[in-house]
Amino acid sequence: AAWRQPGIKRTKTVCTYCGVGCSFEMWTQDRKILKVQPTPDAPANGISTCIKGKFAWDFVNSEKRLTTPLIRENGQFREASWDEALDLVARRLMNVRDIHGPQSVGFIGSSKASNEEAYLTQKIARLIIGTNSVDNSSRYCQNPATKGLTRTVGYGGDAGTIKDIEQAEVVVLVGSNTAENHPVIASRIKSSQKLHGQKLVVFDPRKHEMAERANLFMRPNASTDLIWASALSRYMFDNDLADYEFLERWVNNIDEYRESLAPFTLDFAEQKTGIPKQQLIEAAELIGRAKSVCLLWAMGITQHSHGSDTSTALSNLLLVTGNYGKPGTGGYPMRGHNNVQGASDFGCLRNMYPGYEKVTDEDARKRWAKGWGVKPEQLSLEEGWGNFLMVQAAADDKLKAMYIIGEETAFSDANTHNVHSAFESLDFMVVQDIFLSRTAEFADVVLPACPSVEKDGTFVNTERRIQRFYQVLEPLGDSRPDWRILKDLAARMGHDWGYTHPSEIMAECASISPLFAGVSYERLEGWKSLLWPVAADGTDTPLLYTDGFPTDDGKASLFVLEWQEPLEAADDEYDFMLDNGRLLEHFQGSNQTGRSQGIWDQVPGSFVEVSPELAAERNIQDGTWVRITSRRDSHEFPALVTDRVAGKTLYLPIHFGKPGVNGLTGEHTDPVVHTPAYKETAVKLKVLDKR
Ligand code: SF4
Repeated sequence: AAWRQPGIKRTKTVCTYCGVGCSFEMWTQDRKILKVQPTPDAPANGISTCIKGKFAWDFVNSEKRLTTPLIRENGQFREASWDEALDLVARRLMNVRDIHGPQSVGFIGSSKASNEEAYLTQKIARLIIGTNSVDNSSRYCQNPATKGLTRTVGYGGDAGTIKDIEQAEVVVLVGSNTAENHPVIASRIKSSQKLHGQKLVVFDPRKHEMAERANLFMRPNASTDLIWASALSRYMFDNDLADYEFLERWVNNIDEYRESLAPFTLDFAEQKTGIPKQQLIEAAELIGRAKSVCLLWAMGITQHSHGSDTSTALSNLLLVTGNYGKPGTGGYPMRGHNNVQGASDFGCLRNMYPGYEKVTDEDARKRWAKGWGVKPEQLSLEEGWGNFLMVQAAADDKLKAMYIIGEETAFSDANTHNVHSAFESLDFMVVQDIFLSRTAEFADVVLPACPSVEKDGTFVNTERRIQRFYQVLEPLGDSRPDWRILKDLAARMGHDWGYTHPSEIMAECASISPLFAGVSYERLEGWKSLLWPVAADGTDTPLLYTDGFPTDDGKASLFVLEWQEPLEAADDEYDFMLDNGRLLEHFQGSNQTGRSQGIWDQVPGSFVEVSPELAAERNIQDGTWVRITSRRDSHEFPALVTDRVAGKTLYLPIHFGKPGVNGLTGEHTDPVVHTPAYKETAVKLKVLDKR
């Protein structure tokens, strides 16, 4: 067997792609990655993986990896030593802060980096610079879901585990293309359908694979999900399907909420959502009569101008039907990046310390200041800017310097034209990444970091599961692990924290944050994992809310909502709605998957999905080029005719191009958390003569 050959090493790691958090052994010989082997010991995935986790690793040894720091001089990058680059970054950041104040510096932490690295990012922002303007890419995805959950049940994380999803009697998928975005969870649902007759209900404008497999598939009109969710809640009360025993024991605000549902009749829902009343009744009966329901949602809900409210409506529906705190129940906002949950958990948020303690809370400030050995006054009580507001503040000349770690903001933020000019207006910009990304092209200094396989650390998956990953390879060239870069930078700014290993960073966080009190590297050894909250004795919490909710009186709360028109909709001129999302093979800006040859060969470029009705009307065939024009810009794509989309909805993968889909999207955001409404883009379409 190969493992008997000399020089072959097997190391446990955790996937660098999606939030399922698959762990497996990586077989290597020198720098060569021989294979990825899952094992039954892996807590989230067992022996399953998807194509990305199994095969998309060529990027690690790509010739395009950054291996030395770069400094911009006369408009060009030149190579520099680490000492020169870090001295320059420390000096310029402190200089900007001293001249323009702490609020003039902003940080974006990475959803691909470790928890320990997220922790250090926010520690530098809060403790050294004195700003709470530190954020991560959850601003672009699940922040509205976090808001919906904190308004109703308390914690901004999945209520249970993949096991709960497996054992639910009914699974409801809303705006989640699970088979492509969270493939291993999708395969669990498929097995449960086969093995114990689990019922699957799907609400989505797109007929993706899970919609094809659903017992009931409904296509709501764009931006109307709050209406059907509220109509279902009303139906539960009106038809004696509400769980009164649960509501009376565990939930506040029942009467006011019930009254607020008056406008959400089935007739109103049918008229607005386009879903036939009979199907809504069928969905309500399935959900209301089931013993256990898990409701999973993703960007199809959150990336709208009222994503926070719609997320809240989904959580309300689960409360009304008593679907929290029991095995096989709960709300599950599916996390996209492998560590987007951890980046938020460990404090890269504009308003929270690690473990979701508010920066405006005096007691929390005192505890964090004590833990960090500084006076409370050194930490700001003022909330900072999130990603979107940082970019706006840069455009308004209020933010002068940005430090971006492993994020493709220049490609992933909505309306990238605005983002690019905001970056150009900054006095100083640092990018820490493994590639010279589209974002790094705007930087003054680029610091070469390491991917997860070249360092130790921990990630948190979508279940709130903290897992260790171990160093597989040495850092390539002169690249360095992010935690080491951040520690060395802090030392140059007068704070020598002396960490020698990420375990010491985790120990420090656990000693201050109650949510992680019992987390330690020993308790996470090998295949072991812990799901937060973790008590000091190491007891973790696979299923939340079994003994009540994390509120003053231990009760959840139904939250009153109104439906509001979306901020951008189709009209006579821009008469199509452009949907967008991921493909199974690729991830985000394809910086990693695009540099993995086998993956690139599978899907080497973009296309726009058009419906068969539209194709017939406009004489479009597969490969016909069309021009898509939004209120911002215009781009051309070959068409793919498919009944995955219907009528006047188009669908574009997000992975390709420069500027890509976000040249078309707008800067309108959810007013509560400022997540861009990526999925609300009205466009027009012109068929071109070329093929
Ligand atoms: Fe698992 Fe997601 Fe990685 Fe695929 S991309 S192997 S589902 S963690």
